[in-house]
Amino acid sequence: MRYASVNGERREAEPKLHGTCPNCDREVIAKCGQRRIWHWSHRGKLDCDHWWEPETEWHRSWKAFFPQAWQEVIHIAADGERHIADVKNDKGLVVELQHSPIAAEERLSRESFYERMVWVVDGMLYKRDLAAFRKAVDFASVTSDKQNRLILIPLTERAEIFRRWAPLQCPVFVDFGDEELQIGGFVPPERLLWHFLLDRGTGRVVVAPVTRASFIEFALNGSDLRYLALMRRDNPRRRYRARMSRF
Ligand SMILES: [Zn+2]
Repeated sequence: MRYASVNGERREAEPKLHGTCPNCDREVIAKCGQRRIWHWSHRGKLDCDHWWEPETEWHRSWKAFFPQAWQEVIHIAADGERHIADVKNDKGLVVELQHSPIAAEERLSRESFYERMVWVVDGMLYKRDLAAFRKAVDFASVTSDKQNRLILIPLTERAEIFRRWAPLQCPVFVDFGDEELQIGGFVPPERLLWHFLLDRGTGRVVVAPVTRASFIEFALNGSDLRYLALMRRDNPRRRYRARMSRF
């Protein structure tokens, strides 16, 4: 965890600091080594929230887009079950930052627990995912949906990441970091997230690219997401533009 309670204050881990877990009130230890980013850890192996995964630089860089008070927010369900949301905004939307793969059942239980949530998935966990996704996107058929969003239909669904992150109840956005991914030979104008959608007709995963900047704005203040859109083909350099849309 990034934050613990130290004498009633929300503090980041520092050497020799003693804190308590904001979720279970037990003692947590400041881990300030060289190998991993500084964090708080429960004594022993036991973590109070079994949904929690070890934090990476990727988690930290995403959390940093949001106000401190929205990071690592305790969420308590009506039946008393409690978990720590990575990010929860002032309108109650939870952004779960997921680095490691999780089983469909666990995904569903988190989605039902938080109700209003979106996933941001670290696509860079496995090298093979990037290679397969790069190919899938570059060779995908390009079309648009009723909302005029550009939709990529991958030629093959063999890329494991499509199976692993096929959407269930809540939206899934996959982050490939700074990797330059081309869409039919075209280099997108800005950094993107890849919104995985289920094509109800075929049951297959299709992909709607959305600008990362607009996703952050959406999570910060509820503004519209900007998806890429298909343009007329006469000017190949300007085939796509970003447009406003809700998911
Ligand atoms: Zn705890």
